[in-house]
Amino acid sequence: MNRLLTFLLAAVVALCPSGISASERDVRPFVVVIDPGHGGKDYGAIGKVTNEKTINLDVALRIRKMLSEYNGIEVVLTRSTDTFLSLQQRADIANAAQGNLFVSVHVNSVDRRSKNRLTVKGASVYTLGLHRSNANFEVAKRENSVMELEPDFSTTYQGFDPNSTESYIIFELSQNKHLTQSINFAQMAQGELVKTAGRADRGVLQAGFWVLLASAMPAALVELDFICNPTSEQFLHSVKGKEKMARALTDAIVKYAEAHPGTMPVSKNMVVDEASEPFDMEESEPEDAAAPEQKSAATKGAVTYRVQIMACDRRLSDNSPEFKGLKNVDSYRQGGFYKYTVGGDFPTEDAAERYACKSVRGKFPKAFIIKWRDGQRID
Ligand SMILES: [Zn+2]
Repeated sequence: MNRLLTFLLAAVVALCPSGISASERDVRPFVVVIDPGHGGKDYGAIGKVTNEKTINLDVALRIRKMLSEYNGIEVVLTRSTDTFLSLQQRADIANAAQGNLFVSVHVNSVDRRSKNRLTVKGASVYTLGLHRSNANFEVAKRENSVMELEPDFSTTYQGFDPNSTESYIIFELSQNKHLTQSINFAQMAQGELVKTAGRADRGVLQAGFWVLLASAMPAALVELDFICNPTSEQFLHSVKGKEKMARALTDAIVKYAEAHPGTMPVSKNMVVDEASEPFDMEESEPEDAAAPEQKSAATKGAVTYRVQIMACDRRLSDNSPEFKGLKNVDSYRQGGFYKYTVGGDFPTEDAAERYACKSVRGKFPKAFIIKWRDGQRID
């Protein structure tokens, strides 16, 4: 092989994630798995104007969007559309993602015969354990009973019967090594649901939820409020209500992630947050200059600048841990490699350089600036 080509290939491969030192690899983003309960043929609890699966998904998608404003946190959703997933599939997704935290989002309800059906209200956050009251048992039974919608559920769940009291003995016997951390998060989430979303406080509780048992990480199941109470349902159905509940859970997740050792530090992502300025105003370009988030705003023929962080022979997903929490990742192909840039297009080399210094080189010391025109790199 041509010596120059060999050299170039070696240089490119050196930038590849496999070349990252072990210590850098150990520090990865905090991975939160959000599990919008129910979906598809399983509606969950039904209200007068809406249903549980729709609220759960809507709130989960809002949380994902809110968390995208933070570096150092990666979000995995068990479902992002209206599809049916078994409880085991949800746990499998969480375990495959090696999550640091599992948050299952649900909406509560009580039986049609309950006298307090129209007045019962409030949020509660559950961790795994054996129920201490009948009411908690009823919630676990209802949430676990979705396994009956699976054709072969008694094999999958090893004979577990969601409606039999005896089955729940496994929750007493199972060791729960994540309990302290789970309760820690549950308290944060419950606190925020009361403070930020204004929900009545039903407290942090324990019950036997299969999905929590099967997820090998700190885990909590959130019951946002009661859909059978018309006032609560109105809140659960409103955009304002969903936004507040998502904000509450987002703040709790951030707080928990910030206190979590062994993962990357969490910081507010100035690139995505429209309210904050990307640079010091004094140093910044004129107002009409492309801010980092306006990544495809470049007009035809115009030259822009990008910050390249790595090249690799594999295609990586946008939220791959290899990007170390940096957002706004673009890629292009050149010479058989995928090359990755962050932060979008910058109007001048200086602006790109400032961004690289301030936000990128701490994580990718070898990041460099490339020239870009009409969708491709120019040199
Ligand atoms: Zn549910």
